[in-house]
Amino acid sequence: MRILIVEDEPRLAQALKEGLESEHYEAVVAHSAEDGFFQIHSGCFDLLILDLMLPGRSGLEALTVMRQQGQTTPALILSARDRVEDRILGLDAGADDYLVKPFAFPELLARIRALTRRGRPEDILRFKVADLELDAVTRKVTRGQQPVELTVREFELLEYLLRYQGQIVSREMLARDVWRESRRATPLDNVIDVHIARLRRKVDDADSPKLIHTLRGVGFMLSETAP
Ligand code: CA
Repeated sequence: MRILIVEDEPRLAQALKEGLESEHYEAVVAHSAEDGFFQIHSGCFDLLILDLMLPGRSGLEALTVMRQQGQTTPALILSARDRVEDRILGLDAGADDYLVKPFAFPELLARIRALTRRGRPEDILRFKVADLELDAVTRKVTRGQQPVELTVREFELLEYLLRYQGQIVSREMLARDVWRESRRATPLDNVIDVHIARLRRKVDDADSPKLIHTLRGVGFMLSETAP
């Protein structure tokens, strides 16, 4: 379980990181909103812990932008502001929970457990981005309400891109999690690219806005807006 901590106060950031690591979470610290953007786009996180008062862009602005970009990672706001209005602002910006500083570490852990139970990507069974819908139970895919016929592999590929929508999905991730062949002698890059091209022809036809984006040298991203 990977947690991104966006907190500018070095001692608190370090204490959080060490506390979470002692509970066997993997924790990464970003000291500003900009650093937070960089981190969240370069790795997969299961949870975002976000301070509101940051140098430059505030935590609230950062979260608003991340949600607009399609980031669905559960977010917990840490803030010294304890007014009801502040909590509402935070939740409206897309936070899933709000914890007032100072807080007891066991309470933070309890909130993290609740959020990561609720927000685990593998528990999500229906996805919708723009007019693309995928139902993991019935295994039906539609674009603009028209059925899209996919092979088993194409379906798994699309489902994976949807689970990580708004985040970069590398070819290594696809080889490991969709093809389940991370230890091959020869990389699967060409195979993956062929499948992405086929999936794109079926999902991203000429009339609709493109949802599957290629990031040269990095991987792919499924997102309503070009990254
Ligand atoms: Ca701060």
